[in-house]
Amino acid sequence: MSEVILNHIQKVYPNGYQAVKDFNMEIKDQEFIIFVGPSGCGKSTTLRMIAGLEDISGGTLQIDGVVCNDKEPKDRNIAMVFQNYALYPHMTVRKNMEYPLKIAKLPKEEMDARIDHAAKILGLQNLLDRKPKALSGGQRQRVAMGRAIVRNPKVLLMDEPLSNLDAKLRGQMRIEIARLHKELKATTIYVTHDQTEAMTLGDRIVVMSDGEIQQIDTPQNLYEKP
Ligand code: ADP
Ligand code: ADP
Repeated sequence: MSEVILNHIQKVYPNGYQAVKDFNMEIKDQEFIIFVGPSGCGKSTTLRMIAGLEDISGGTLQIDGVVCNDKEPKDRNIAMVFQNYALYPHMTVRKNMEYPLKIAKLPKEEMDARIDHAAKILGLQNLLDRKPKALSGGQRQRVAMGRAIVRNPKVLLMDEPLSNLDAKLRGQMRIEIARLHKELKATTIYVTHDQTEAMTLGDRIVVMSDGEIQQIDTPQNLYEKP
């Protein structure tokens, strides 16, 4: 079970800017949640607070009933996939995927098994010895996903993972993400500007504006009502 509860979450950056005002939401186990809203409305900040990459200024974050405000990122059982891939350029695909597992001090056999499984479901088997610069954009994004899923996260955060890809590849990757979600069953929060992604992937869509939630609804109610 991986419920994520955001209770009156706020973010005030050190310069005094309040990027998130009063974010309240209960995300159910295995739910696929989409965040939409104009640039600068606080989507990334919210994801980064959930991941532990940014301090929470107010409110409580609960994952599986445990308050996580002060937990290190590595202790949250969360993985995040970024728009710009954030791969280590000097490491091969295998090393990139191995890195988080080394930090978690997994035994070698377990690391290899997880990497092989991720490589198989993401179609990376033949690319494991390449470095990122020898990969296409779509392949890099798959490696970024591979590096996230090898950790068997209970919660998967994705910040516009497909926005650097061309339309055709985006369509293919969208289908793969849906498939991946079925297999992994991780509770997922996904930021996008793409309405097709929001509609096809999301169980519920959170519409944000100016650091606040404007509306939370199903894709059907949000986009298909007259
Ligand atoms: P979104 O992901 O919706 O585009 P962000 O969460 O990245 O929005 O940013 C929300 C707001 O917080 C923006 O106005 C942005 O300029 C501001 N912001 C982001 N990071 C910082 C920072 N480190 N210091 C001050 N303001 C920031
Ligand atoms: P470092 O400078 O130590 O290499 P990173 O930039 O790799 O740091 O990561 C910064 C922090 O973010 C670390 O605490 C790490 O545990 C965490 N982190 C790194 N990658 C991810 C990810 N994909 N999802 C969630 N947290 C991550």
